[in-house]
Amino acid sequence: MDRILRRRDALRAKLAAEKVAALLVVDPTNVAYLTGFTGDSTYLIVARDREVAISDGRFTTQLEQECPGLEAYIRPNTQGMTAAVAEVAGKLGVASLGFEAAHLTVAEHLKLRDEWKTAELAPTTELVESLRQIKDDAEVAAIREAVAIAQDAFLRLKGELKAEESEKDVADRLEAHMRALGATGTSFPTIVAVGRRAALPHARPTAETRIGDDDFVLIDWGACGRSYKSDLTRVVVAGNVTPKFEEVYGIVLAAQEKAIRAIRPGARAQDVDAEARSFIEQAGFGPFFDHGLGHGIGMDVHEGPRLRRESPTILEPGMVVTVEPGIYLPEWGGVRIEDDVLVTPDGHEVLSSLPKGLDAVRA
Ligand code: ZN
Ligand code: ZN
Repeated sequence: MDRILRRRDALRAKLAAEKVAALLVVDPTNVAYLTGFTGDSTYLIVARDREVAISDGRFTTQLEQECPGLEAYIRPNTQGMTAAVAEVAGKLGVASLGFEAAHLTVAEHLKLRDEWKTAELAPTTELVESLRQIKDDAEVAAIREAVAIAQDAFLRLKGELKAEESEKDVADRLEAHMRALGATGTSFPTIVAVGRRAALPHARPTAETRIGDDDFVLIDWGACGRSYKSDLTRVVVAGNVTPKFEEVYGIVLAAQEKAIRAIRPGARAQDVDAEARSFIEQAGFGPFFDHGLGHGIGMDVHEGPRLRRESPTILEPGMVVTVEPGIYLPEWGGVRIEDDVLVTPDGHEVLSSLPKGLDAVRA
């Protein structure tokens, strides 16, 4: 509970620094981060010295259980959410309310302006998200758990892959393994892409394509444990290791290892991206690596910081990022290798440990 209070204190300090009198938090993940509440349809107003959750009767008990000590306003079902926000803000004496520009809908914004004519509504960006980038020990422990579940599930799957199975069969079973091993769900819909279909970085698994239809299969998956997520990618060779595969795989792996070595506090996210990107460019595959190197993971599977070209972010201890370079060749396929990396006070720690040398890719 203390760490939840610390988060709200940190947010208040940020609001003061940015001259935001009070903040309306509407993103469910941000609400969960600041309160411990795991339900939905609940907003939070954070004012100078008080916070109030705004919810409805479905969540009264859950709020009491998950957020002891948090003041809650339960709106009657005759009152809409925006009217409730106006009422609570009025009671708190708030004249100017910051809102999350990325999350409050235009419809809600119009309604709020309509129902609370005297208020000044000010857009804000990433106030809570910027706090979420730096994980505390408990959050890192939860990510470790999510990584462990994903890895155990993958090893189980890899031992039983069959040529006649479809991409969808494999994705479904990997997800079932993760749930059986303790996941509350998956981080995102699992990607299983055989051969040339792996040239699409976000291929959806099909029931038609079979594992044995080509030499290799790309699998990108993650587990959600206790609210925190993991995100990994491995390529498994079910057929032949061709010279072309060996070349592409070797370049992607070397690029990934180079980038991981560059991760430390004070490093610029764009420089970490450039480590992998310049290596792939020098190898002649620059045009075929057309996405960012990685992203933060946490309560969301894609969050800050972003490792990509022009990212101004400076890495800090407590950040957890994916490192996932790839080379995608139309009509041939794609190779991506993805691990999850914690920025530590004196460097980094790779949280995932599935083998990835060329000798480990065979099914
Ligand atoms: Zn991934
Ligand atoms: Zn990823």
